[in-house]
Amino acid sequence: MTKTDIASLNFTQLSQTISAMGLPKFRAQQIYDWIHKKGAVSFDEMTNLSKELRTQLYDNFVIFSCAIEKKLVSCYDNTVKYLFRLHDGEFIESVVMQYKYGYTICVSSQVGCNMGCAFCASTIGGRVRSLSASEILGQVYAAQRDLGIRISHVVMMGMGEPLDNYEQTLQFLHMISDEKGLNISARNISVSTCGIVPRIYDLADERLGVTLSISLHAADDERRSRLMPVNKRWPIRQLLQAVHYYIDHTGRRVSFEYTLVRGENDSAEDARRLCALLKGMLCHVNLIPVNEVRETGMKTVDQSAVRDFQAILLKHGVNATIRRTLGADINASCGQLRKSNIKTP
Ligand code: SAH
Repeated sequence: MTKTDIASLNFTQLSQTISAMGLPKFRAQQIYDWIHKKGAVSFDEMTNLSKELRTQLYDNFVIFSCAIEKKLVSCYDNTVKYLFRLHDGEFIESVVMQYKYGYTICVSSQVGCNMGCAFCASTIGGRVRSLSASEILGQVYAAQRDLGIRISHVVMMGMGEPLDNYEQTLQFLHMISDEKGLNISARNISVSTCGIVPRIYDLADERLGVTLSISLHAADDERRSRLMPVNKRWPIRQLLQAVHYYIDHTGRRVSFEYTLVRGENDSAEDARRLCALLKGMLCHVNLIPVNEVRETGMKTVDQSAVRDFQAILLKHGVNATIRRTLGADINASCGQLRKSNIKTP
């Protein structure tokens, strides 16, 4: 018999399952607290449950947790990068960053990725599998437990494409923002996508109020398709229509990520094209010099080039900031640690 992944059940689902086993309702609350508030990773920790009940749980359920395989701490800014080992031996990465307003975790949504972006380390071996809601939640719980902190912000900007793992991403978003769990405000959660257009409409219709972050990286289809194959399926015009729909239906400002790659998308002309595209939209642009990944051959830009690019956007009234680089000494951008940890065939 396969055991049920208990930490992927939301409170209602867990309550129903517990009732169906003939157990009193308050047990569901106790178990949910242990997993989602106290970060328990085994039934043995649930000391207010009888030994018999713990055995019964053990026989029927499994808690998928994230085990720390490697942990790197930046000596510049205390950014922590984790390589987590999953129950089947796969690896994923998460990064915890400390800001004035609290701790932000960047979580992965898949092992590897199928999107094929030209500059990205996570996609090099393709998608191995998608994560369950419990494995996405587990990254937050494991980091909190290890660091003894409370995480206040979550960005889905780690390995994988969250909207290519839509159901589990949605379950994760509901559970992490639920008051019965960590109760992280939807406003403090960002979902980043390379542009899976139909799922952007779906996410808007959920009206969760999470921040949508679009990895744009180029303002014309030719360049964008070169950097991001997903653009061939859903070109910029269709993507922006979906973004407008998201803004109209949620009232939320959308973020655009723009990773600068030397000679690919970093010219003044590129900046002007971006202005023309985004002018008047309720949005914000994050400029990021590309993190060089050896296999991709993409070259980064220097700080002055980023500032010049930003200046053009600001002059045209497009809100733009330069992403502060954190964890520069620990390869904090995702995908690189996992790659270096697995044997390449
Ligand atoms: N698949 C999602 C989320 C994961 S990637 C997405 O595409 O948005 C998170 C962000 O990191 C994306 O904006 C992605 O384009 C960017 N990124 C990937 N590799 C990078 C690199 N080498 N340097 C800088 N940014 C990178």
